[in-house]
Amino acid sequence: MDPFTAPAHSVPPGWSRKPRWLRALLLTALTLLLIAACGYAGYRISAQFGIQTLAEDGQRQLELNARAVESEISRYTYLPSLLELESSVGRLLQSPTPFRREQVNAYLEGLNQRSGSLAIYVLDVQGRVVATSNWREPSSYLGEDLAFRAYYQDAMAGRLGRFYGIGSTTGEPGYYLAHGLKKAGQIIGVAVVKVRLNSLEQRWQRAHLEAFVTDENGIIILSTNPARRLKATRPLDAETRERLARSLQYHWWALEELQPLAREQLGADIEQVSFASDGKPAPSAKPVTYLAQTRPLADTTWHLTLMTPLQDLRRSALSHAMLASAAFALLLFVGLALNQRRKVLATRLAAREALQRANNELERKITERTADLRASNQRLLAEVREREQAETTLRQAQDELVQSGKLAVIGQMSTAIAHELNQPLAALRTLSANTVRFLQRGSLDVASSNLQSIAELVDRMGKITGSLRAFARRNDDQAEADLGQAIDAALQLLQHHRSCPGLQLHRDYPLAPAKVRVAIEQTRLEQILINLIANALDAMAAQSDRQLWLQGRSEAGSYQLTVRDNGSGIAAEVRGHLFEPFFTTKPGEQGLGLGLTLSASLAASAGGSLSVEHPPSGGSAFILSLRLAPEPQEPSSHE
Ligand code: ADP
Repeated sequence: MDPFTAPAHSVPPGWSRKPRWLRALLLTALTLLLIAACGYAGYRISAQFGIQTLAEDGQRQLELNARAVESEISRYTYLPSLLELESSVGRLLQSPTPFRREQVNAYLEGLNQRSGSLAIYVLDVQGRVVATSNWREPSSYLGEDLAFRAYYQDAMAGRLGRFYGIGSTTGEPGYYLAHGLKKAGQIIGVAVVKVRLNSLEQRWQRAHLEAFVTDENGIIILSTNPARRLKATRPLDAETRERLARSLQYHWWALEELQPLAREQLGADIEQVSFASDGKPAPSAKPVTYLAQTRPLADTTWHLTLMTPLQDLRRSALSHAMLASAAFALLLFVGLALNQRRKVLATRLAAREALQRANNELERKITERTADLRASNQRLLAEVREREQAETTLRQAQDELVQSGKLAVIGQMSTAIAHELNQPLAALRTLSANTVRFLQRGSLDVASSNLQSIAELVDRMGKITGSLRAFARRNDDQAEADLGQAIDAALQLLQHHRSCPGLQLHRDYPLAPAKVRVAIEQTRLEQILINLIANALDAMAAQSDRQLWLQGRSEAGSYQLTVRDNGSGIAAEVRGHLFEPFFTTKPGEQGLGLGLTLSASLAASAGGSLSVEHPPSGGSAFILSLRLAPEPQEPSSHE
């Protein structure tokens, strides 16, 4: 098909520029994008809810563990102040002697064993250890100067000395609690208890918790993860570092800063932090993300931080994301399927409506056509009725014409008939009178000859009346006629109608006994022939050479008889009027102008025709065409 002749309106201009595959590609990309967006939203929502739930759980855990830490610490708070009650301690501090030292050492050793602390010792006002529970051990503090320790300084100032540090002698970490021992309102020395807090770490590990405790300097003093121990959770300035180094709080530890890979503050005391997994260098290590919740511990400047790993949360968020994507894809699919179904239904409905419309239109047209047909049927019926009426009228007119034609012929013939009958009647009268006389005379031969003549005359008269009777018979359309017989009868009748001296008759048709039977009533055929032959005779009346041809030939189920004469012929101007009723060129009584009209009408009513020809040699030729009778009658045995 020529693209330039293609109808431009068949494709919307917008679509014509976008090929089908591009549309499909865009739609697919959009669908995938939507599915991905849905998955992302699912991930975010799941993660958010997960974090919320984890935070709530973590908060409970944090509270529980913080209480445990607090109670662990407070278990020893009273212990240093107990030494104030021991008189031997006061005495030793006021006036130290080896015996008193031994006594206090033994007391402290026993107390330390019962309380489960690491060590209990007493410092004098200069900060020197005067008695200690570990006096027996090689790493005994005895005689050590601990004036640089912050807890000593706090206790000397009348405050409760609290301190987490690493022992300068043993290198063992511990929680130091110091109390200034008073006598008469004066501080005479400091009692110190060193406690081990490792049991907390072990308890957390057993519970599979990740937690750490930071002290006032932000240094991790307790941690389930040993790698994080003694790391700074916030940057330490130079001054603080200097001070810490001097107090040897953390011995010689470097106090590196704990650097998370990423951190995000989610709220007050709650953040999300990521660390490189242990034992691997930061770039290649897979980060582990935690939810870190922090709470200050009562009666201390310490903080407990609980770390909840978010790995499981991530995994469940991912599966939720996939679930959301799948659900969305399913919904989309169902939506598409429903839409497709709706379209199919709409198309089906439209098709049904179109069919219904077409059906209605068809029914309407059928109704219209039926009405039209009924109307034309009515018209046809009316026409048929009119035709029948016209035919009846015509038939009546024809019958009347036939009748009047007959009457005319009878009128015309009456003189000749009277003459024809009068002559034999006169002859009969004469002959019968003569015969009576001959019989009286006894001349029987003459009488017999006369009687013979009488019989012949009677025969002749019978024939004349017979012809007349046959002529007067009623018509019978179903009948058939013997052509030869009809011609003979016509000639017979006309023999007495007009005198035609010197007439030469040429018969060229099957003569008896070969019979031609035509479909017309006998008398009607005779009447037609009488008319035609009489006209021919009339046309030849004025001439001496009179020739009459009767020629017959059969052709395709019909028979044509031509009656031709060499008479005057028919003038050109009257040819068109020959078959009009009452058209005649004959003078006076001779012509009625009904002969040809009647003959043509009779021939037509028998299914035949009558026409005229004008031979160039002169004269006229009338051609009578009649249907042949269906079955030729069997010839009678006596004929
Ligand atoms: P009619 O014989 O009473 O005149 P027709 O109807 O028989 O009525 O004939 C009509 C006319 O046709 C005649 O008057 C005559 O002029 C003409 N006609 C008929 N037959 C012939 C014929 N064979 N030759 C010449 N003229 C004829």
